[in-house]
Amino acid sequence: MSRRPLEAGERVLLVDSKGRQYLVTLTETGRFHSHAGIVEHTQLLGQDEGVTVRAGTGARYTAVRPTLADFVLRMPREAQVIYPKDLGAILLLADVAPGTRVLEAGVGSGALSLALLRAGAEVVGYELRPDFAARAVANVSDFLGDEAAGRYRVEQHDVYGGIDEVDLDRIVLDLPEPWQVVKHAEGALRPGGILVAYTPSILQAAQLREALAASDFELAQTVEHLTRGWYLEGQAVRPDHRMVAHTGFLTSARLLGPVPGGLKAPRLPS
Ligand code: SAH
Repeated sequence: MSRRPLEAGERVLLVDSKGRQYLVTLTETGRFHSHAGIVEHTQLLGQDEGVTVRAGTGARYTAVRPTLADFVLRMPREAQVIYPKDLGAILLLADVAPGTRVLEAGVGSGALSLALLRAGAEVVGYELRPDFAARAVANVSDFLGDEAAGRYRVEQHDVYGGIDEVDLDRIVLDLPEPWQVVKHAEGALRPGGILVAYTPSILQAAQLREALAASDFELAQTVEHLTRGWYLEGQAVRPDHRMVAHTGFLTSARLLGPVPGGLKAPRLPS
Protein backbone atom coordinates (compact mmCIF):
# COMPACT_ATOMS: atom_id res chain seq x y z
CA MET A 1 0.00 0.00 0.00
CA SER A 2 3.04 2.27 -0.14
CA ARG A 3 3.33 5.31 -2.40
CA ARG A 4 3.76 4.26 -6.01
CA PRO A 5 2.92 5.92 -9.30
CA LEU A 6 -0.07 4.95 -11.43
CA GLU A 7 0.74 2.20 -13.93
CA ALA A 8 -0.83 0.74 -17.04
CA GLY A 9 -3.16 -2.15 -16.17
CA GLU A 10 -4.46 -0.73 -12.93
CA ARG A 11 -7.77 0.90 -12.20
CA VAL A 12 -8.44 4.46 -11.20
CA LEU A 13 -11.54 6.31 -10.17
CA LEU A 14 -11.85 9.56 -12.12
CA VAL A 15 -13.84 12.17 -10.20
CA ASP A 16 -15.16 15.31 -11.92
CA SER A 17 -15.92 18.69 -10.36
CA LYS A 18 -19.52 17.62 -9.65
CA GLY A 19 -18.34 14.53 -7.80
CA ARG A 20 -19.34 12.13 -10.59
CA GLN A 21 -17.12 9.06 -10.58
CA TYR A 22 -15.92 6.78 -13.38
CA LEU A 23 -13.94 3.58 -12.97
CA VAL A 24 -11.26 3.36 -15.68
CA THR A 25 -8.54 0.77 -16.39
CA LEU A 26 -5.36 2.55 -17.49
CA THR A 27 -3.53 1.50 -20.67
CA GLU A 28 -0.59 3.03 -22.56
CA THR A 29 -2.81 4.14 -25.42
CA GLY A 30 -6.14 4.56 -23.62
CA ARG A 31 -8.39 7.60 -23.69
CA PHE A 32 -11.24 8.47 -21.36
CA HIS A 33 -14.05 10.12 -23.30
CA SER A 34 -16.47 12.27 -21.34
CA HIS A 35 -19.08 14.84 -22.27
CA ALA A 36 -16.38 17.37 -21.33
CA GLY A 37 -13.66 16.09 -23.65
CA ILE A 38 -10.89 13.54 -23.56
CA VAL A 39 -8.34 12.56 -20.93
CA GLU A 40 -5.37 10.65 -22.36
CA HIS A 41 -4.27 7.88 -20.00
CA THR A 42 -0.69 9.03 -20.54
CA GLN A 43 -1.65 12.19 -18.60
CA LEU A 44 -2.11 9.91 -15.56
CA LEU A 45 0.56 7.21 -16.02
CA GLY A 46 3.57 7.79 -13.81
CA GLN A 47 1.69 10.28 -11.62
CA ASP A 48 0.83 9.80 -7.96
CA GLU A 49 -2.81 9.04 -7.23
CA GLY A 50 -4.64 12.21 -6.23
CA VAL A 51 -3.40 13.93 -9.39
CA THR A 52 -5.77 16.33 -11.17
CA VAL A 53 -5.66 16.60 -14.97
CA ARG A 54 -7.63 18.56 -17.53
CA ALA A 55 -9.72 17.12 -20.35
CA GLY A 56 -9.51 18.82 -23.75
CA THR A 57 -12.20 21.37 -22.83
CA GLY A 58 -10.57 22.33 -19.55
CA ALA A 59 -12.81 20.22 -17.31
CA ARG A 60 -10.85 18.78 -14.40
CA TYR A 61 -10.65 15.16 -13.37
CA THR A 62 -8.97 13.85 -10.24
CA ALA A 63 -7.68 10.28 -10.24
CA VAL A 64 -7.52 8.07 -7.15
CA ARG A 65 -7.25 4.32 -6.77
CA PRO A 66 -10.67 2.81 -5.97
CA THR A 67 -11.26 1.57 -2.43
CA LEU A 68 -12.79 -1.86 -1.89
CA ALA A 69 -16.17 -0.15 -1.38
CA ASP A 70 -15.76 1.82 -4.64
CA PHE A 71 -14.99 -1.40 -6.50
CA VAL A 72 -17.82 -3.45 -4.96
CA LEU A 73 -20.40 -0.86 -5.99
CA ARG A 74 -19.10 -0.71 -9.58
CA MET A 75 -17.77 -4.19 -10.34
CA PRO A 76 -19.53 -6.51 -12.80
CA ARG A 77 -22.27 -8.33 -10.90
CA GLU A 78 -24.47 -11.33 -11.51
CA ALA A 79 -26.36 -11.12 -8.21
CA GLN A 80 -27.20 -8.41 -5.69
CA VAL A 81 -24.10 -7.58 -3.66
CA ILE A 82 -23.85 -6.93 0.06
CA TYR A 83 -23.36 -3.21 0.64
CA PRO A 84 -20.13 -1.88 2.13
CA LYS A 85 -21.83 -0.84 5.40
CA ASP A 86 -22.85 -4.45 5.97
CA LEU A 87 -19.55 -5.90 4.72
CA GLY A 88 -17.72 -3.94 7.40
CA ALA A 89 -20.10 -5.14 10.10
CA ILE A 90 -19.85 -8.77 8.97
CA LEU A 91 -16.05 -8.71 9.24
CA LEU A 92 -16.24 -7.81 12.92
CA LEU A 93 -19.27 -9.95 13.78
CA ALA A 94 -17.44 -12.92 12.26
CA ASP A 95 -14.16 -11.67 13.79
CA VAL A 96 -12.16 -12.34 10.63
CA ALA A 97 -8.37 -12.07 10.84
CA PRO A 98 -5.42 -13.18 8.70
CA GLY A 99 -5.49 -16.97 8.37
CA THR A 100 -9.09 -17.40 9.56
CA ARG A 101 -10.69 -20.38 7.74
CA VAL A 102 -14.06 -19.30 6.38
CA LEU A 103 -16.78 -21.09 4.45
CA GLU A 104 -18.92 -18.66 2.48
CA ALA A 105 -22.26 -19.57 0.78
CA GLY A 106 -23.62 -18.42 -1.63
CA VAL A 107 -20.85 -16.52 -3.27
CA GLY A 108 -22.86 -14.48 -5.82
CA SER A 109 -20.70 -11.79 -7.40
CA GLY A 110 -18.03 -12.05 -4.73
CA ALA A 111 -18.48 -8.79 -2.80
CA LEU A 112 -18.37 -10.53 0.56
CA SER A 113 -15.52 -12.76 -0.66
CA LEU A 114 -13.51 -9.64 -1.47
CA ALA A 115 -14.04 -8.26 2.04
CA LEU A 116 -13.13 -11.58 3.72
CA LEU A 117 -10.02 -12.06 1.58
CA ARG A 118 -8.91 -8.47 2.07
CA ALA A 119 -9.09 -9.11 5.84
CA GLY A 120 -6.69 -12.05 5.31
CA ALA A 121 -9.08 -15.01 5.51
CA GLU A 122 -8.74 -18.30 3.66
CA VAL A 123 -12.09 -18.69 1.94
CA VAL A 124 -13.91 -21.70 0.52
CA GLY A 125 -17.03 -20.59 -1.34
CA TYR A 126 -20.05 -22.75 -2.16
CA GLU A 127 -22.15 -21.48 -5.05
CA LEU A 128 -24.97 -23.12 -7.02
CA ARG A 129 -24.39 -21.23 -10.25
CA PRO A 130 -21.11 -21.82 -12.14
CA ASP A 131 -21.47 -18.51 -14.00
CA PHE A 132 -21.73 -16.63 -10.68
CA ALA A 133 -18.76 -18.55 -9.26
CA ALA A 134 -16.66 -17.62 -12.30
CA ARG A 135 -17.64 -13.98 -11.96
CA ALA A 136 -16.70 -13.95 -8.27
CA VAL A 137 -13.30 -15.51 -8.95
CA ALA A 138 -12.67 -12.99 -11.74
CA ASN A 139 -13.64 -10.06 -9.50
CA VAL A 140 -11.32 -11.30 -6.74
CA SER A 141 -8.34 -11.77 -9.07
CA ASP A 142 -9.05 -8.47 -10.69
CA PHE A 143 -9.16 -6.36 -7.54
CA LEU A 144 -7.00 -8.27 -5.05
CA GLY A 145 -4.57 -10.09 -7.35
CA ASP A 146 -2.84 -13.47 -7.20
CA GLU A 147 -1.98 -13.63 -3.50
CA ALA A 148 -5.65 -13.32 -2.44
CA ALA A 149 -6.83 -15.52 -5.32
CA GLY A 150 -4.54 -18.21 -3.89
CA ARG A 151 -6.51 -18.13 -0.63
CA TYR A 152 -9.85 -18.48 -2.47
CA ARG A 153 -11.55 -21.59 -3.84
CA VAL A 154 -15.13 -21.68 -5.11
CA GLU A 155 -17.01 -24.95 -5.61
CA GLN A 156 -20.29 -25.57 -7.36
CA HIS A 157 -22.00 -26.99 -4.32
CA ASP A 158 -25.46 -26.81 -2.70
CA VAL A 159 -24.72 -25.94 0.93
CA TYR A 160 -28.20 -27.16 1.97
CA GLY A 161 -26.98 -30.65 1.06
CA GLY A 162 -23.98 -30.55 3.42
CA ILE A 163 -20.51 -29.11 4.08
CA ASP A 164 -17.38 -31.11 3.25
CA GLU A 165 -14.97 -28.91 5.23
CA VAL A 166 -14.27 -29.56 8.91
CA ASP A 167 -12.71 -27.49 11.69
CA LEU A 168 -13.75 -24.23 10.08
CA ASP A 169 -13.37 -21.06 12.11
CA ARG A 170 -16.30 -19.21 10.52
CA ILE A 171 -19.31 -19.74 8.26
CA VAL A 172 -20.90 -16.74 6.55
CA LEU A 173 -24.15 -17.10 4.64
CA ASP A 174 -26.02 -14.97 2.13
CA LEU A 175 -28.71 -17.19 0.68
CA PRO A 176 -32.48 -17.60 0.98
CA GLU A 177 -32.77 -20.32 3.66
CA PRO A 178 -29.84 -20.12 6.11
CA TRP A 179 -31.72 -22.27 8.66
CA GLN A 180 -31.12 -25.21 6.34
CA VAL A 181 -27.38 -24.82 7.00
CA VAL A 182 -27.44 -24.87 10.83
CA LYS A 183 -27.20 -28.68 11.22
CA HIS A 184 -24.34 -28.88 8.70
CA ALA A 185 -22.59 -25.95 10.40
CA GLU A 186 -22.61 -27.80 13.73
CA GLY A 187 -20.45 -30.50 12.14
CA ALA A 188 -18.23 -28.23 10.08
CA LEU A 189 -17.27 -25.51 12.58
CA ARG A 190 -14.81 -26.01 15.39
CA PRO A 191 -16.05 -25.30 18.94
CA GLY A 192 -16.14 -21.56 19.46
CA GLY A 193 -16.67 -21.04 15.74
CA ILE A 194 -18.98 -18.29 14.55
CA LEU A 195 -21.86 -18.39 12.07
CA VAL A 196 -23.07 -15.15 10.50
CA ALA A 197 -26.01 -14.88 8.12
CA TYR A 198 -27.22 -11.91 6.09
CA THR A 199 -30.95 -11.96 5.34
CA PRO A 200 -32.99 -9.25 3.61
CA SER A 201 -36.18 -10.25 5.48
CA ILE A 202 -36.73 -10.31 9.25
CA LEU A 203 -38.89 -13.41 8.73
CA GLN A 204 -35.77 -15.20 7.46
CA ALA A 205 -33.85 -13.96 10.51
CA ALA A 206 -36.63 -15.22 12.82
CA GLN A 207 -36.67 -18.64 11.21
CA LEU A 208 -32.89 -18.84 11.48
CA ARG A 209 -33.07 -17.89 15.15
CA GLU A 210 -35.53 -20.74 15.76
CA ALA A 211 -33.14 -23.21 14.15
CA LEU A 212 -30.23 -21.79 16.17
CA ALA A 213 -32.22 -22.00 19.41
CA ALA A 214 -32.74 -25.73 18.77
CA SER A 215 -29.02 -26.28 18.03
CA ASP A 216 -25.64 -26.25 19.79
CA PHE A 217 -25.20 -22.59 18.83
CA GLU A 218 -25.54 -19.98 21.56
CA LEU A 219 -24.91 -16.24 22.01
CA ALA A 220 -27.20 -15.54 19.07
CA GLN A 221 -27.90 -11.96 18.11
CA THR A 222 -29.63 -10.19 15.25
CA VAL A 223 -28.80 -6.61 14.29
CA GLU A 224 -29.27 -4.18 11.45
CA HIS A 225 -26.98 -1.31 10.56
CA LEU A 226 -28.30 2.01 9.30
CA THR A 227 -25.95 4.51 7.70
CA ARG A 228 -27.26 8.05 7.33
CA GLY A 229 -25.24 10.54 5.34
CA TRP A 230 -25.11 14.23 6.29
CA TYR A 231 -25.14 17.29 4.09
CA LEU A 232 -22.64 19.85 5.36
CA GLU A 233 -22.28 23.15 3.57
CA GLY A 234 -21.96 26.41 5.49
CA GLN A 235 -25.04 26.83 7.66
CA ALA A 236 -26.86 24.05 5.83
CA VAL A 237 -26.03 21.20 8.12
CA ARG A 238 -28.58 18.40 8.13
CA PRO A 239 -29.01 14.72 7.37
CA ASP A 240 -29.26 13.84 3.68
CA HIS A 241 -32.86 13.67 2.49
CA ARG A 242 -32.32 10.20 1.07
CA MET A 243 -30.64 7.14 2.47
CA VAL A 244 -30.40 3.42 1.82
CA ALA A 245 -32.89 2.63 4.57
CA HIS A 246 -32.91 -1.11 4.23
CA THR A 247 -30.47 -3.75 3.08
CA GLY A 248 -30.53 -6.74 5.41
CA PHE A 249 -30.37 -8.16 8.91
CA LEU A 250 -27.26 -9.76 10.35
CA THR A 251 -27.64 -12.75 12.63
CA SER A 252 -24.64 -14.28 14.38
CA ALA A 253 -24.13 -17.12 16.85
CA ARG A 254 -21.30 -19.22 18.30
CA LEU A 255 -20.94 -22.98 18.35
CA LEU A 256 -20.36 -24.33 21.84
CA GLY A 257 -18.27 -27.36 22.67
CA PRO A 258 -19.39 -30.57 24.36
CA VAL A 259 -20.57 -30.38 27.97
CA PRO A 260 -19.21 -32.84 30.60
CA GLY A 261 -21.60 -35.76 30.96
CA GLY A 262 -22.82 -35.44 27.38
CA LEU A 263 -25.59 -33.02 28.32
CA LYS A 264 -26.67 -30.24 26.00
CA ALA A 265 -24.86 -26.97 26.64
CA PRO A 266 -26.57 -24.62 29.09
CA ARG A 267 -28.56 -21.85 27.51
CA LEU A 268 -26.62 -18.63 27.72
CA PRO A 269 -28.29 -15.23 27.75
CA SER A 270 -28.12 -13.73 24.27
N1 SAH B 1 -22.93 -12.23 -0.82
C1 SAH B 1 -22.82 -12.15 -2.27
C2 SAH B 1 -24.17 -12.24 -2.94
C3 SAH B 1 -24.85 -13.57 -2.74
S1 SAH B 1 -26.37 -13.69 -3.66
C4 SAH B 1 -22.10 -10.86 -2.62
O1 SAH B 1 -21.90 -10.03 -1.73
O2 SAH B 1 -21.73 -10.66 -3.79
C5 SAH B 1 -26.90 -15.28 -3.14
C6 SAH B 1 -26.19 -16.41 -3.85
O3 SAH B 1 -26.51 -17.62 -3.19
C7 SAH B 1 -26.63 -16.60 -5.30
O4 SAH B 1 -25.49 -16.49 -6.12
C8 SAH B 1 -27.21 -18.00 -5.33
O5 SAH B 1 -26.91 -18.69 -6.54
C9 SAH B 1 -26.52 -18.65 -4.14
N2 SAH B 1 -27.24 -19.77 -3.52
C10 SAH B 1 -28.56 -19.86 -3.24
N3 SAH B 1 -28.82 -21.02 -2.63
C11 SAH B 1 -27.65 -21.68 -2.48
C12 SAH B 1 -27.28 -22.96 -1.95
N4 SAH B 1 -28.21 -23.78 -1.42
N5 SAH B 1 -25.97 -23.31 -1.96
C13 SAH B 1 -25.04 -22.50 -2.50
N6 SAH B 1 -25.33 -21.28 -3.04
C14 SAH B 1 -26.62 -20.88 -3.04
